[in-house]
Amino acid sequence: MSITQSILEIVNRHAADAGASRVTQIRLVVGDFTGFVPDSIQFYFDLLSQGTLAEGAELVIERRPGQIRCQACGAVYEPSDGQLWICPVCHTLGGEVMAGKELYVDSIEVVKG
Ligand SMILES: [Zn+2]
Repeated sequence: MSITQSILEIVNRHAADAGASRVTQIRLVVGDFTGFVPDSIQFYFDLLSQGTLAEGAELVIERRPGQIRCQACGAVYEPSDGQLWICPVCHTLGGEVMAGKELYVDSIEVVKG
């Protein structure tokens, strides 16, 4: 819930800075490794945005797949949901997270005046 609150604060601040009367669309990038489920972000967004510039805005969530780089052979792969991180090339367990922890506001669309 607090992450949705942070997103809203960012959006409302930018909208206010831009002299917007309301926000029509918000594009969010959410990595698979963040643990955030789009449905729950939407739920809290609808709740928390009431009475703010962002009330009624369309929330567009772009998911980014998680990527792991094998520390043994350097192969980059995308593990399936809930599966152990096992390199498909050399079968070493674990590795370095390359992508999937992103969580940010990509863009917002506003109506001015
Ligand atoms: Zn490997």
